[in-house]
Amino acid sequence: MHGLRVFILCVTAACIRLTDLLVAGIYGGMKNEQKKYARWRQDMIDNQIISRGITDQRVIDAMLAIPRHLFVSEALVDSAYGDFPLPIGEGQTISQPFIIAEMSQCLDLKGHERVLEIGTGSGYQAAVLSQMVYKVYTIERNNTLFLQTRKLFDQLKYHNIVTRYSDGTQGWQQECPFDAIIVTAGGQQIPMPLIEQLSVGGRLVMPVGGNFSQELLKVEKTESGIKTTNLGSCRFVKLVGQHGWDE
Ligand code: SAH
Repeated sequence: MHGLRVFILCVTAACIRLTDLLVAGIYGGMKNEQKKYARWRQDMIDNQIISRGITDQRVIDAMLAIPRHLFVSEALVDSAYGDFPLPIGEGQTISQPFIIAEMSQCLDLKGHERVLEIGTGSGYQAAVLSQMVYKVYTIERNNTLFLQTRKLFDQLKYHNIVTRYSDGTQGWQQECPFDAIIVTAGGQQIPMPLIEQLSVGGRLVMPVGGNFSQELLKVEKTESGIKTTNLGSCRFVKLVGQHGWDE
């Protein structure tokens, strides 16, 4: 009887030990994965962002913090931190990291702002901005991407991002004026409702031009009108809507 009790105790202890080892193994593996992505993010910041002249520490910190690999499909996870845009489904793309950094930096964000984004897509640009400002309002016209990305924001607990499914070329009248507006798809001109919904002193950035290439324009709204700066050539997917391209 005594022998049996000792045997049962030994078996139980062995089982507990085995479970501990298993959990430690899985947890250790997960920690290594996290370390790997953190290293890739640091490489991206050093080789693509800082080396090309981005100096805004808020942009750098946000891009170091946001797990870009979670915003692309599983098949592309290993390419997520590469120096190029990636497909996100529905014929759309997530911009190259440097473009995300450049557009975020040119908005001169300090932390208190309410920012409107047109073209939620994968959600990565909105997530980066969410680390830098008070609140991000983001609009997507593609229902599949809208639903998918809204779910991801919930999972990642990005509670200062508000999403909307509609034509972003009309802006978001109920929530305006915005301190900054970022349009992540290209149009022939800047939609007038967006200029109207920008606060005086506010900044807007948008790719403007033809179907295949555009100029990245920064617009500053002042008491006396708007001042436009050309930040250089770029290539974005189409802004489709009432004040954009036809379907
Ligand atoms: N900011 C995104 C980039 C996505 S690509 C990211 O970080 O991944 C541009 C997105 O703009 C696409 O998802 C496309 O569906 C969307 N789009 C195009 N025209 C739009 C419009 N009028 N209103 C809202 N979204 C639009």
